[in-house]
Amino acid sequence: MTLTAHAVVGAAVITLLPAHPVLGISLAFCSHFLVDAIPHWDYPISSRSVNPSFGEKMRMDRALFLDAARIGCDGLLGFTLALLFFHSLGPAWLITAGAAAAMLPDPLQFVYAHFKHEPLVSLQCFHLWMHTKKELKKQPALGVASQLLFIFIVVSLRLLAIH
Ligand SMILES: [Zn+2]
Repeated sequence: MTLTAHAVVGAAVITLLPAHPVLGISLAFCSHFLVDAIPHWDYPISSRSVNPSFGEKMRMDRALFLDAARIGCDGLLGFTLALLFFHSLGPAWLITAGAAAAMLPDPLQFVYAHFKHEPLVSLQCFHLWMHTKKELKKQPALGVASQLLFIFIVVSLRLLAIH
């Protein structure tokens, strides 16, 4: 899923256990794989040096710039929404940590693409194994709408659960 969706889930999870940040961070990290198991849409990765399926040498081209802009905006939106929705449930550092931990498996795929060593190899295998095979590839509108709905449900459930 998008980094935004992962960030919101991670922040929701960590605010359930504000007294146990290490456990919260671990659960937020694990949430990434469960969320990826849900059939969803992912925006395409243009650069072959960013896409873990290729892992080619870094090339400063248009595709890399586009990916950096798209992924950067996605991550930033994730942090922003997580803080916006859950600021009343915990300190900003805790929410930021939960969001970051939940997004982390995706940047780790990029690291894996250029550094194929353990534990990244096993983590990548697990990531791919957990990831849904039902991708909404050619339906970006449905893909975006379904992730907005998913975020809405997660935020609603978390805010309804309160403390
Ligand atoms: Zn993922």
